Amino acid sequence: MIQQRKKKTNILAYILGILSAIVIIGCAIVVLVFYKKVPDSTIIKSKANIVLGTVCSINLYEDGKQEIYDELFNKLDDIDMAFSVTRADSQLSHVNQAAGIKSVEVGDDVLYVLKKALSYAVVTDGAFDPTIGPLVKLWGINTDHARVPSDKEIEDTLKLINYKDVIIDGNKVFLTKAGMSLDLGGIAKGYAADELVRIIKAHGVKKAIINLGGNIYVYGKKEDKSLWSVGVKDPENQEGDPALVLKVEENSVVTSGVYERFFIQDKVRYHHILSPKTGRPADSGLMSTTIVCKSSTDADALSTSIFILGLEDGFTLLEKMNIAAGIFITNDRNVYATSDLKESLVSSNYKYTKINYK
Ligand code: ADP
Ligand code: MG
Repeated sequence: MIQQRKKKTNILAYILGILSAIVIIGCAIVVLVFYKKVPDSTIIKSKANIVLGTVCSINLYEDGKQEIYDELFNKLDDIDMAFSVTRADSQLSHVNQAAGIKSVEVGDDVLYVLKKALSYAVVTDGAFDPTIGPLVKLWGINTDHARVPSDKEIEDTLKLINYKDVIIDGNKVFLTKAGMSLDLGGIAKGYAADELVRIIKAHGVKKAIINLGGNIYVYGKKEDKSLWSVGVKDPENQEGDPALVLKVEENSVVTSGVYERFFIQDKVRYHHILSPKTGRPADSGLMSTTIVCKSSTDADALSTSIFILGLEDGFTLLEKMNIAAGIFITNDRNVYATSDLKESLVSSNYKYTKINYK
């Protein structure tokens, strides 16, 4: 009798044990599901601000914490403070103010970008030239005093432009002629994008889109492992359908084009990428160049360089450097692309249906 009661108690305890286990597991599942469903209200998917003279937007998706955005936008402010040619107190302005007088010490960031820019001046035989400053000022493109200068003014200004007249000694930079000035506008946004990626990586962000006025970095992998889609603008209608759509893995995509910054006088368009050979807006037969590269600094310098060099020399440079893919849209609306983009590029605009691969 006693033994039978003991057996019953054991069975009861056993059943109770199982029931409480079920309740505990059930609760855990409910908590998990509920936790997943309720969005974290502190997550900010994207943020935008005007820095580096353009709209800069950053999208960190579900890793978007206020402190990370703060760090990223502070970094952009620091880069602006160092590289700006419109702020009189930037590092670059200090170097420019001392042209022909003395050398000026710069930080590692300015030194790195300047050296990179000078290396592009060498490989493009001076088509890309960071001493383009006086010419940029003369044309005043993107300012309220933009104008077409006289031939004499252009001729005089060209005497001040030569990357070989930059002397670097340690962290000190000297522009040997009075009136010379550095302008790193063709490479600085790319450097900024790379710096942001470095910070994003350090925070363990899974995926992000950085867009610094069209200088794009798509970072990380999407959950479904699908590739990123990046539109290549139609140079003749930036608001309409993109010319092409590019499917890429983590990469930087940078475009230089006639439509970015320009003014129109007597029905002629004068854009902001200047040829150090002619002293006028580069006219190499291209409407835009797009570069795909892991390094945004290189992508930025290359897109500007190749825009000036044109189709033939541009392809030769890409081949020689072997670090990037490229897309060229010519004035007659033809598209040329490097053959490594064969699987990645689709036309999305009736004007650019045929893509020529080289
Ligand atoms: P964006 O600034 O519109 O993205 P780019 O990267 O092509 O376009 O850079 C254009 C900028 O590069 C100009 O605004 C000017 O600051 C600078 N620049 C213009 N011509 C040259 C040149 N020949 N070499 C180097 N930099 C240049
Ligand atoms: Mg550039």
